[in-house]
Parts: sequence; structure tokens; C-alpha cells
Amino acid sequence: MKKILQDLTFTETEEYILSLGEKKFRAKQLYEGLLQGKSVTAISSLSHALKERILEEYENEPIKIKHTFYSSDGTEKYLFELADGNIIEGVLMKYKYGYTQCVSTQVGCRMGCKFCASTLNGLVRNLTAGEILSQILLVNALHKDEVQGKGAQARAVTNVVLMGSGEPLDNYENVVRFLRNICSENGFGMSARNISLSTCGLVPKMYQLAEENIPLNLTVSLHATDDISRARTMPVAKAYKIADILKACEYYFEKTGRRYYFEYTLIADENCDEAHADALIKLLKGKPCHINLIRLNEVKERDLKALGDKDAYRFLGRLEKGGLSATLRRQIGVDIGGACGQLRNSYL
Ligand code: SAH
Repeated sequence: MKKILQDLTFTETEEYILSLGEKKFRAKQLYEGLLQGKSVTAISSLSHALKERILEEYENEPIKIKHTFYSSDGTEKYLFELADGNIIEGVLMKYKYGYTQCVSTQVGCRMGCKFCASTLNGLVRNLTAGEILSQILLVNALHKDEVQGKGAQARAVTNVVLMGSGEPLDNYENVVRFLRNICSENGFGMSARNISLSTCGLVPKMYQLAEENIPLNLTVSLHATDDISRARTMPVAKAYKIADILKACEYYFEKTGRRYYFEYTLIADENCDEAHADALIKLLKGKPCHINLIRLNEVKERDLKALGDKDAYRFLGRLEKGGLSATLRRQIGVDIGGACGQLRNSYL
């Protein structure tokens, strides 16, 4: 595989262009073209000769949108093709305050969570920083006439969640490079506050992330209230205890001043009766956190069942009465098939 320009910082792009004996401003033209989601060949300000030279070493387009699925509620789902032919998926959710894009960080995943389709065939490979960024540049370009926000924050894709396929903290270096690049003032310039990173709870990496000085929204997939039950659906629970995850979250809060989030997928007969609600209250009451309850997206290869809506609201009500800040995530885009790796699987 050739190298990927979108992996580079602006300074690195300048160094590269200077190394070709070109003037500095060519780097700006190149970098701005890439930020607009263009392939190298489509950047009209660069000479044909320079583009040829660049393409000897670098990919013209590290990823392409292979297919878009449109939901009646406005949600869009994408299948992206990488330069090596691998397929990843993504989602764009349209809210009143802006567009939130869900991006993948790995092809497949090796965490083995029982409810998740991304992990069924294990990890294929990590995505590079530029492959993660390019998912956003492409979708942002697709919607370039729907720019929202003001000044430096004006763009179509206003929020990003690292909740697609893959475990972001299992691809730590690339993900941190991606975060620095997307937040960079001479790059895409997104505020870290508009980015959420979801992890199954890789404790040492959570501490490491707290030191990076990137004030994003840290979200942990909890899905259980004790370690033994958690290990039934999440093998990672054998390596890291809930108590240690909570300590790492607390540390994240101390370091960044940002409250943290938990995801809790409601799985019938597994984690969502009254006793579980009470255990969750006991675990999290008084902590600077918010709980996102998620409806299970049933995966046909697994026999886990979603909780009915009435029971889901009852569970939410009990958490709220117990003093927790919690919401039940709205279900959108249901008419265009599953998410969480199901789209890619059905394609493959
Ligand atoms: N590896 C990261 C990001 C994964 S996806 C993590 O574990 O957090 C984001 C969220 O979707 C996680 O909370 C994950 O547990 C959840 N999820 C995965 N498959 C799901 C499914 N079939 N139904 C509902 N939620 C699912």
C-alpha cells in the first residue's frame, strides 16, 4: 500500500512539499484540497507534474464511498472501501444542533463482545489516522451545502463519535494522531468537545489518554453491573475490573474537568431488571457521569434479545429516580439495516 497524505500534520505536509523542491504555498494548496475531501488529482491548483510526483508515493484517495443508504428519517449509512479493498462502515445522524458522524477505527475488532457484529471475524487491521479522518472529510464534502455552526466551527459534520467498528484504544497511536489532526487549528479545526471516544474499558490506555490533553467526551461501554456478568458478554472484563474502570474515569475527570459517559445496552434477561438498575445506581450515584441506555441491535448470529420499549423506559425511570443522569438513546435509521458492523457483514 502507498502512504496516505491525510495521515500527515500540516507541518509534515510542508516538509514533504519542500523536500520535493517545491514552494511552501503548494503545501497549503494540497492540504486545503484534502480537507475539502478531494483526491490529489482533483486539486486544480497543483500542476500535473507535481501531482504525478506525489502519486508515486501517496494514495490518490485512501478511501471511497462505495455505497450510501438513505433512511426516511435522514440518517445515512455508508460502506467505505479502503485502498487495499477492505470495507468499513459509518453513519451520519442528523440532529437539530448539527450532524454527528460515527466513524470506524479498525477493520473488524478483537474485543469479542457477544452482542457486537464487528467482532464476529476478529480484527483485520488498524486504520491509520488518515483513514479515520478521510471518512469525515468525504462525508463533510458530500454535505458541503449544509454547513452549520459559525466561524472556525462552520462545517457540515459538526460532531464525531468514535463508535463505529473497532476499539479506538486498541489502535491508540493512530487514534491519537487522528484526534490531534482533526482538532488542529490549521487543519479541520474541530473542537475536542464535539468528539466522543467510546471504549470497552482498556484501563491503562484510559490513563494514557487522560494525559494527552485532548478534552473529548470519554465514554465507556459498561453493559453490566458486576465483573462476572460483564465477562459473560464482554471478554475484556476478565482483564479489567469495573472498579478500576471507575477509577480511570475519575482520573480522566480530574485531569480534564470533563464529565464522562457510560453506555449501557439493554439486553433482555441479562442486564436490565430492577436489581440491575439498583446496582447501577449504587455504582454510579454522585459521580460526574451520564448514562446512555442503548437498545440492543439484534445480531442474527447471536441469540441475545432486545428489551421491549416499555421495560426500557421503566429501567430509565428507575435510574432517574435513583438520582442518576440518564437517557434512552433514540433509535434512528432502522429502515436501512443494522449498524455496529452488521452492514459490512451483510455486504461481505
Ligand atoms: N469498541 C468501542 C466502540 C464500539 S461501538 C466500545 O466498545 O465502546 C459503540 C457502542 O455500541 C458500544 O457501547 C458497543 O458496546 C455498542 N454496541 C455494539 N454492538 C451493539 C449492538 N448490536 N446493539 C447495541 N449496541 C451495540
